[in-house]
Amino acid sequence: MLQTALHYSHELLKEIVQPGDVVVDGTMGNGFDTVFLAELVGKTGLVYAFDVQEQALTTTTERLKAEKLLERTQLLLQGHETLSQVIPEIQPIKSALFNLGYLPHSDKSIITTEATTIPALTALISRLVTRGRIILVIYSGHEGGEAEKQAVLNFATELPQEDFSVLYYEFINQKHSPPSLVCIERKKSPKK
Ligand code: SAH
Repeated sequence: MLQTALHYSHELLKEIVQPGDVVVDGTMGNGFDTVFLAELVGKTGLVYAFDVQEQALTTTTERLKAEKLLERTQLLLQGHETLSQVIPEIQPIKSALFNLGYLPHSDKSIITTEATTIPALTALISRLVTRGRIILVIYSGHEGGEAEKQAVLNFATELPQEDFSVLYYEFINQKHSPPSLVCIERKKSPKK
């Protein structure tokens, strides 16, 4: 069966993330992706994870503790747009994952928007290693979702093809706007 955008995001990460890598979880949410990434980077790697909600941090901390993975992570109660203040410019990033939208079963008014998603992507692009991937799972069904989706697609479409491969994955015959996926892969090392 064809994979959902969410499953495919994990597939794309599994292909490249290795023990010792430094990666970013742009939207901690319930912490499932943070756990998944912490397993992939191994004991010597590190996951920087961001969220603006206390609840996300609490849930994620508990989940990581239960799996004995907490020490491989740095959890930040701040927006992903502050990435540059936390992760040095020289730090190579192997991968970043964003699960956009709102936290299920929580405050639906707290959503990611292009005003913070695009600055986070810009900061990540300059740190992304060759063959590194930024993956976004995009939800467009809620208010504000479609605008963010278009902003992400515009940003990704404009990346120069000499330097990046950009993939877009979407089911086009389904009702209720299922999530779509964008994957940005760096082809060549960034010019310094
Ligand atoms: N829509 C997904 C889950 C998305 S969770 C699903 O249905 O499975 C998105 C998370 O992003 C939420 O926990 C929210 O608090 C967080 N968020 C919102 N703005 C953010 C920002 N600027 N930086 C980091 N996280 C943010």
